[in-house]
Amino acid sequence: MAKSDNFTRELPEGYLPVKTVDVGDKRFGLLMNLFGALLTVAVGVGGFLLKFRGEPGSAFPDFGNVWIFEGWLFGILIALILYLVLHELTHGAVYRLLTGEKLTFGIKLTCAYCGVPNVYVTRKTALLSLLAPFTVFSVAFLVPFFLLSGLLSFSFLVLFALHFGGCVGDLYDTILLLFRLKGKLLMRDTGPRQTFYVLSDGEPDV
Ligand SMILES: [Zn+2]
Repeated sequence: MAKSDNFTRELPEGYLPVKTVDVGDKRFGLLMNLFGALLTVAVGVGGFLLKFRGEPGSAFPDFGNVWIFEGWLFGILIALILYLVLHELTHGAVYRLLTGEKLTFGIKLTCAYCGVPNVYVTRKTALLSLLAPFTVFSVAFLVPFFLLSGLLSFSFLVLFALHFGGCVGDLYDTILLLFRLKGKLLMRDTGPRQTFYVLSDGEPDV
């Protein structure tokens, strides 16, 4: 399939903006982050009960001295920063592969982002890019969580829970695309802000 089937440079006639999602907006961004934090806690506690219910002590084997714990925290922090970069690069790789267009990357108080600001992408392109990091890193963190044991397994659970909560914006857009916004659709993604355009049939919008 040609790249040109995945996006358009000009908004075709008849498409009207019906929804904007802007995680760069302070109020909305804060709300999303709060919801993401709740998801992280829920997933973390759920995973912990699932794996370590039998012997909760095995998740924290040798934190006998505080330096080991601090070293572990530092390791998680480094992994998290690396993850954040790779997450955005994964969005970007899909956008780049499907459109060949210029990308934008950045970081705000409320989010890190990647967009393809100069074009309007199809629903399929939008979904593939939105779901790519969620899918890739869910597998990358869940497989070692289930296969390994003790502190290593616990560490991957922490990363998975943070990843899951961090995908809240991507998942929100995905739900809109799959279940809420019907009809012919194009999306403009400037990074923190996604605008959804739907082909109007002349009826008033809901
Ligand atoms: Zn994302």
